[in-house]
Amino acid sequence: MASWGAPVDELAHFAELRHRLRGWVEALYDALLPQECAVCGTLEGPGSLAGLCSGCCSSIERWPGAAEGDSRAVVAARFRPPVRDLVLGLKYAGRREAAIPLAALIASAADPAELRRRVDALVPIPSHPLKRWSRGLDPAEEIAAALADMIGVPCKRGLVRTRRTQAQGQARSARQRARQVAGAFRALGWVEGRRIALVDDVLTSGATASAAREALEQRGATVPRVLAAAGHPWSPERASSRSSRMSRRN
Ligand SMILES: [Zn+2]
Repeated sequence: MASWGAPVDELAHFAELRHRLRGWVEALYDALLPQECAVCGTLEGPGSLAGLCSGCCSSIERWPGAAEGDSRAVVAARFRPPVRDLVLGLKYAGRREAAIPLAALIASAADPAELRRRVDALVPIPSHPLKRWSRGLDPAEEIAAALADMIGVPCKRGLVRTRRTQAQGQARSARQRARQVAGAFRALGWVEGRRIALVDDVLTSGATASAAREALEQRGATVPRVLAAAGHPWSPERASSRSSRMSRRN
C-alpha cells in the first residue's frame, strides 16, 4: 500500500527498500505456493510477469516501438486480451490484483535503471473523484503503486482532476479530444522542480496525458516519461463510428 502523504524524498528511501524486500518475498512465495493467474485462473508456477501464467504471458502482444508522436511515452502492450482483460477487470470489476501484472508489464518495457536515474517520482493520471468513488479504486494509482515497489521509484499523488471529461469515444477528432481534456488537471505544489513519470493504464489519443503533463509543467515540474500498460490506437474514424454505434444503441 503506498503512503501517498509523505514527502517525496522520504518516499524515495522506502521505495528503494520495498523494491529490495519485494524480490526476496516474491522468490520465497513463488517457491512455496503455486499462484492463480490473474486472467485465466490457472494454478501454476509464475510466468515471466508477476501474477500471470506462462500461457497468458506468451499471448501478450507487445507494443511495437515508441508510442506515436511522443518519444517520452513507453507503452508496454496492445490493448488486446489478456492485457485488455486485466485493464477491464481493474477498472470495472474492482480487481486490484490485476494491477500487479500491468505494472510488471510496464517494468518490462521501460528501463527501470534509467527511470531511477531520470525521475524523482511516479505520478498517476487520476480519475475524477466521483469515478474513483463509484469504482472504489483509481486504476492508474493502483498500477503506479505496484510499479513503485517493482522499480524502486516512489509514487505520489501529484495531480487533481478538476472536472469530469466525456469518454474518449465521444470525440470526433483529435482536436476535439484535446479540447475536452484541456485544463482538466491541477498539479499539487510539491511537484515544483521535480522530474515526474506519468503513469496511466491505457494511452489512446495521448490528449489526457498531454493535459496532465501541461498541468505539471505549469507548476515547474518536468515530465521526461509517460508510462502506460496498454496502447489503443485512436483515429477520428474509429472514434466517430464508435460514438455513432453508441448513439444508435441509446
Ligand atoms: Zn493465465
